[in-house]
Amino acid sequence: MGMQKKDVDVVVIGSGPNGLAAAIRLQQQGLSVLIIEGKKTIGGGLRSAELTLPGFTHDICSAIHPMAAASPFFNTLPLHQYGLEFIRPTIAAAHPFDGGKAAVLTSSIKEAASLLGDDEKAYLKLVEPIVKDWPLLVNELLAPLHFPNHPLAMMAFGLKALPSALHLSKKFVTKEARGLWAGMAAHSIQPLSNLATSAIALVLMAAGHTAGWPVPKGGSQQVANSLAAYFISIGGNIETDFYVTSLADIPSSNAVLFDITPRQLLQIAGHRFSSLYKWQLERYRYGMGVFKIDFALDGPIPFIAKECNKAGTIHLGNTLEEIAHTEQETADGRHPENPFVLLAQPSVFDASRAPEGKHTAWAYSHVPNGSTEDRTSAIEKQIERFAPGFRERILAKHTMNTTQLEAYNPNYIGGDINGGIIDIGQLFTRPALRYSPYRTSTRGLYICSSSTPPGGGVHGMCGYHAAQRVLKDIFPKHLNLKPVNNT
Ligand SMILES: Cc1cc2nc3c(=O)[nH]c(=O)nc-3n(C[C@H](O)[C@H](O)[C@H](O)COP(=O)(O)OP(=O)(O)OC[C@H]3O[C@@H](n4cnc5c(N)ncnc54)[C@H](O)[C@@H]3O)c2cc1C
Repeated sequence: MGMQKKDVDVVVIGSGPNGLAAAIRLQQQGLSVLIIEGKKTIGGGLRSAELTLPGFTHDICSAIHPMAAASPFFNTLPLHQYGLEFIRPTIAAAHPFDGGKAAVLTSSIKEAASLLGDDEKAYLKLVEPIVKDWPLLVNELLAPLHFPNHPLAMMAFGLKALPSALHLSKKFVTKEARGLWAGMAAHSIQPLSNLATSAIALVLMAAGHTAGWPVPKGGSQQVANSLAAYFISIGGNIETDFYVTSLADIPSSNAVLFDITPRQLLQIAGHRFSSLYKWQLERYRYGMGVFKIDFALDGPIPFIAKECNKAGTIHLGNTLEEIAHTEQETADGRHPENPFVLLAQPSVFDASRAPEGKHTAWAYSHVPNGSTEDRTSAIEKQIERFAPGFRERILAKHTMNTTQLEAYNPNYIGGDINGGIIDIGQLFTRPALRYSPYRTSTRGLYICSSSTPPGGGVHGMCGYHAAQRVLKDIFPKHLNLKPVNNT
């Protein structure tokens, strides 16, 4: 059956990193692609804005970009020519403890290991093989479930990644190594006793020792702007300020890709799906939310541990035991007094973010899904614990609870920033157990958001792999064309 003439070949709904990546991949293969974005500006989790005071640029959602820097697809694109410049902080991440010491993730694995004293060998044994295999692993890991091209490297990784972070922490004896490990694993937004919470810690550490944990010059918006500028340069079209509520609203096309989560997909297209697929999407699970604060500061954060002044990201939670306890409490629906806080200080490395001498800070802690509790004072107290005098430097702040986050971006259901929990049950089978996770039960309708593999974070690989599926299913003649303008 030949294809009918449509307004465009493909419509992508949503301009987050995955929507942009999918659209670029399809446009590169000679198709006509239209992105429709509900908000006035593009970018989804990549927007930056003057949230507090004039001259202070804050990253509303993502700030630190280990996954974008590691992304096999983004790395094929000439984004630098379209304004993207990554700045790599001297230290990727620092983890201060009570008493003034800090553990650090430096770019050199040898240096990071040597700073861990009695855990030097254990750290090298755990992380070094992954760093060595990283060029092979990154393509395997940032992909849907498949038979690996490098089975040995994947098996070695899997044996370390599958256990819980608490289990694997037994490899370390020092407070420093255990704390650093827990801070990395807490990025999984799950109790550290959950299976596979080691995976995210290992990936973030390997990323730190390879492409780094950079900040984009000018703010995360620059990642979206450079992707969009490249997309437009190869003939793509973007329409903003058009929130899609029904398939009847959009131009006709041979394929529609949704950069949204299952709950919204059900609302927009549920009537088109099989009852089995609908049943699967209805059972899709969302995880903990976040409470986010952006600060405008009168000066740098006065950390006691000097390493923190050179770090782009700081994990504030003290010991592994404390972090494991507070993350468990949060998962159980409570608001711990001393939450684990993820903090970034982009202006220390990028002077364009704040007026001269002034600074920005970005911080969040996990909260129960749907929480509306104001966590400002708990988060500030945790920063103050490792940086006494912090509060006196605050010029202005802007906060978002989970309801406000979801109002800002409907993909953050109950404040879940990963488009659904990434636990062992939803790691590869997100959003549903199917031959291809990107296909819905209706031909021509696809999902490409972080609710598909490989999940949350700014890497665009959900979008890339969804686009590959669309090419194979709907436009096979375009699959192996030489991509346009791909320098
Ligand atoms: C506070 C916070 C901190 C984070 N920190 C980091 C970090 O430091 N590093 C990192 O890598 N990741 C981070 N993330 C996660 C990251 O932002 C997301 O994983 C990523 O943006 C997901 O990309 P996406 O393309 O799947 O969806 P999104 O970025 O959510 O984009 C979806 C887009 O679709 C649009 N949309 C939704 N529904 C409709 C509709 N019906 N019609 C039209 N448009 C619609 C939305 O407006 C949005 O623009 C953070 C997220 C948050 C909230």
